[in-house]
Amino acid sequence: MATKEPEVITDKHEMRKWSRAMRSQGKTIGFVPTMGYLHEGHITLVREAHNHSDLIVVSIYVNPGQFSPTEDLSTYPSDFRGDIEKLMAIPGGVDVVFHPHNLYDYGPNLSGDNGFESKGGKLKGAGVVSCVEDSGFGHETWVRVENLEKGMCGESRPVFFRGVATVVTKLFNIVEPDVAMFGKKDYQQWRVIQRLVRDLDFSIKVIGSEIVRHNDGLAMSSRNVHLSPEQRQQALSINRSLLRARIAAEKGHVNCQELRDLVTKAIQEAGGKVDYAEIVDQESLRAVEEITSPVVFCVAAWFGKVRLIDNMEICLRNGDL
Ligand code: AMP
Repeated sequence: MATKEPEVITDKHEMRKWSRAMRSQGKTIGFVPTMGYLHEGHITLVREAHNHSDLIVVSIYVNPGQFSPTEDLSTYPSDFRGDIEKLMAIPGGVDVVFHPHNLYDYGPNLSGDNGFESKGGKLKGAGVVSCVEDSGFGHETWVRVENLEKGMCGESRPVFFRGVATVVTKLFNIVEPDVAMFGKKDYQQWRVIQRLVRDLDFSIKVIGSEIVRHNDGLAMSSRNVHLSPEQRQQALSINRSLLRARIAAEKGHVNCQELRDLVTKAIQEAGGKVDYAEIVDQESLRAVEEITSPVVFCVAAWFGKVRLIDNMEICLRNGDL
């Protein structure tokens, strides 16, 4: 049964005004940042947010700051009306969809006091670095989480975590939530956000939510829509090989090089191109050579022009070995 239609707010000042009004009434706010084209993974984050707060804000914003000029910003899928309908189908719904046009446009007043709608238009096609530097709007402040942003996705996507950390900081300052939900599918991103919240003293509880998968095991992702039927079959090799690696580890095969080889070979044989297959400590995200403490096996792989990421936590109990 559909719930009420959420209020759509596009202006950051309006958004902050709404949040402050609600907080002054003693309401707590749960926040789910997304890039839209919502699927069950996003919907699960909203459902869980209902367990932690009175009101829910979902942001839909494709952040140009996390795409480099060669990446898929211009082809990132969107379906705003469809997204609203999916949110309305959730029991309890959502209260606000924050849908800014451009979070890096400060208008003619570089102090940032102007609404960012003054020049309109969504940044498309190039990374925000060039857009912002060319536009003269004056954005030059970036948030970096210096160690966690290195390695894995940070290695192949050099501006990615800088863009994520910066836009999430901006969104936190605009929405001022009590609780923010992130998916463990983007494991490194979740850890980066946890760390920036701690290091910058945000008064926000960050909650990591488990990966939501299709029945055949493929992790849900907005990018899956770009997979051909054949590539989609090939992509199942990620989850299947990760499961095999976890079972092998549970049976005592704790050598990470061997486990990485197992996964890399399986994905390559299926027709994918592995970007990375890393076994890292769950907290520090530092690579380990042998599994002796809780780790997460993180993978990124290309199927045609589509880059997918997935991961699996592996926690061996004493006695498993
Ligand atoms: P995105 O729209 O891809 O930026 O994702 C928005 C949020 O949804 C992020 O916190 C993601 O980690 C989370 N998310 C995306 N896909 C999934 C999934 N399959 N399971 C759980 N969370 C997800």
